Amino acid sequence: MIPLLLSPAVARIFVESLPPMSSDYPVLRVAVPAPLARCFDYLIPRACPYPPQPGMRVKVPFGRDETVGLIMELAEWSALGEERLKHAISLLDEQPLLDEPLLGLLRWASAYYHHPIGEVAAAALPGLLRRGRAAVLPEGAAAGPLPPADFAPALNAAQAGAVAVVAEAQGFRAFLLQGVTGSGKTEVYLRLIEQVAARGAQTLVLAPEIGLTPQLVARFERRLKAPIALMHSGLTERERVNNWRAARAGAPVVLGTRSAVFAPLKNPGLIILDEEHDASFKQQDGFRYHARDVAIVRAQRADIPVLLGSATPSLESLHNARRGRYRLLSLPQRACGAAHPALRLVDVRGQALQGGLSAPLLEAVGEHLRRGEQVLLFLNRRGYAPLLMCHACGWSAQCERCDARLVLYLDRARALHCQHCGAQRARPEHCAACRSTELRVLGYGTERVEQTLRERFPAAEVLRIDRDSTRRKGALQDLLTRAQRGRAQILIGTQMLAKGHHLPNVTLAGILNADQGLFGADFRAAERMAQLIVQVAGRAGRADKPGRVLIQTHHPAHPLLTALIRDGYAAFAEAALAERAQAQLPPYSSLALLRAEAVKPGAPLEFLHAASAAAQAPAGVRLLGPVSAPMARRAGRHRAQLLVQTARRADLQRFLDAWMPRLEAMKAARKVRWSLDVDPVEML
Ligand code: ADP
Ligand code: ZN
Ligand code: ZN
Repeated sequence: MIPLLLSPAVARIFVESLPPMSSDYPVLRVAVPAPLARCFDYLIPRACPYPPQPGMRVKVPFGRDETVGLIMELAEWSALGEERLKHAISLLDEQPLLDEPLLGLLRWASAYYHHPIGEVAAAALPGLLRRGRAAVLPEGAAAGPLPPADFAPALNAAQAGAVAVVAEAQGFRAFLLQGVTGSGKTEVYLRLIEQVAARGAQTLVLAPEIGLTPQLVARFERRLKAPIALMHSGLTERERVNNWRAARAGAPVVLGTRSAVFAPLKNPGLIILDEEHDASFKQQDGFRYHARDVAIVRAQRADIPVLLGSATPSLESLHNARRGRYRLLSLPQRACGAAHPALRLVDVRGQALQGGLSAPLLEAVGEHLRRGEQVLLFLNRRGYAPLLMCHACGWSAQCERCDARLVLYLDRARALHCQHCGAQRARPEHCAACRSTELRVLGYGTERVEQTLRERFPAAEVLRIDRDSTRRKGALQDLLTRAQRGRAQILIGTQMLAKGHHLPNVTLAGILNADQGLFGADFRAAERMAQLIVQVAGRAGRADKPGRVLIQTHHPAHPLLTALIRDGYAAFAEAALAERAQAQLPPYSSLALLRAEAVKPGAPLEFLHAASAAAQAPAGVRLLGPVSAPMARRAGRHRAQLLVQTARRADLQRFLDAWMPRLEAMKAARKVRWSLDVDPVEML
């Protein structure tokens, strides 16, 4: 047994029963930034001008170095024996940076995601503070009523109802606000924020990475007439510390992306999560938390309401609403009176496609351009073409380090790219296998569609928006501003283009390949495609110019697709949930994915087999695999995975609590890089 490893439940009881500061507690339990699943014990610094408290930073010796850690607990004794403990070097703060409720949330997250407490604690501190910079904490400016807003519209009945229900909530309650794009969800958020501020409390608003645009921030600032503590990755280090401090001091609105769920809040009153279905709320590496789920737990622990909003809620949240865990509120109409656009499937079986575009879609594009309106086209594939293939022998260009084909790009010296590891190569003149020069370009990506559209509609301005065209900081904003001014008439892009942007002159939207979603390897592919289609439809049309949406598919009779087109997202969700129930997939089961990778071919599977053998899985816990990952080699590393499935979440947690320490002690674990993903969102 590792004596220092306290279970979080025990740790919590321990801390809660402690008087916060006392010289009777000479041992500090410190979270240090290291991939180790425990705190480290130190004696309090020899010179200690202030009584140490949980939530203060402390400089400690670590290995041959020094590091900055966060005090998680004070303790009377250490199982190591005090004579073996080192003294911490110095306290860095006069008062705790993080309060007990936030420390409790971090302990919970560390235990739930089975992730080292030091790395979890790091998520709650801006970089400068993590590195030991003085915190300079201002006196808390209490939140208070905001100045009255002048261009607030009168709420319609559905909005007023939603605001009233959330405002009346006493203590913790979770709400799911389902409202089509443009139905006035943001207006509901703004009203609630005003009411919470009037009580002197704070609202934490979380938005997806791509949805937190300067327009959204400007709208919040205009309406609320209050400084907003912003938290997202585009800020400088200095701005981050300043905004973090403002949140801690009680700023009435804290608005941020995923990691803002760990923002310090002096007096939390409400948490709002916009576009709750968005996958960017899940961190995909390191500390793999889901900001939506952490937000729910945070609200529960703080005993305040939490509001999840979306036009296309995740199946998990809809399931929770059905079970009565969340209360469903809906805004069925567009607020400004625009009609819902008409959705139509275009059957492309046997049709000639030009750069991926069918004749009916091209015709519609021409028609809308002639009327001086804008067109949006979606294709989830970047680059010019996904395949460069030898017509003589069938060879195709492959990445040397990944099990993946190289994608062809236009107009670049090194035109073949691997989208997984970033490798680049010149386009070959001959086939590498048979030297034939007959190399064919097959399939199409956004660059190729863009080229086709320029040729076909030479008078129109075409903008492409995808990860390649928006790499430079600010590029996405520039492109969107151009689109919003209505100069560009055709916008072609990946799903990046579908989210949250207000493009009032768009009346036609086209989805080039809905089949990607119907037959994706990930069990969430269909859900994502349905969400994309509805989001895209939300971009098309307004009061005076009704919109339409054309969806190209080879499977016009697919039941999920027809449910969506004919009866809407709720009907789709119903059908998709029935499939999930049948297959015992989330939300009808809980999953954890153990991944391993190594340069040595057999090592990942060897480790996972050993992990599986050490599992002693009790009844109710199923282990599936191990198997090679769908992409078995990536960036020169071989990859494999083992899936853990349980019918009940509590069983999963109990199993992982027992299993993880065994994995950490395993010899085979040292030969691989491994990680556990609890409630994985990407299965690949
Ligand atoms: P959502 O967040 O659901 O997409 P918004 O809150 O952005 O919707 O509202 C869409 C548009 O309708 C905005 O221009 C907003 O100002 C306007 N709007 C919202 N509520 C009302 C209302 N009650 N009356 C008139 N216009 C409204
Ligand atoms: Zn060949
Ligand atoms: Zn590669």
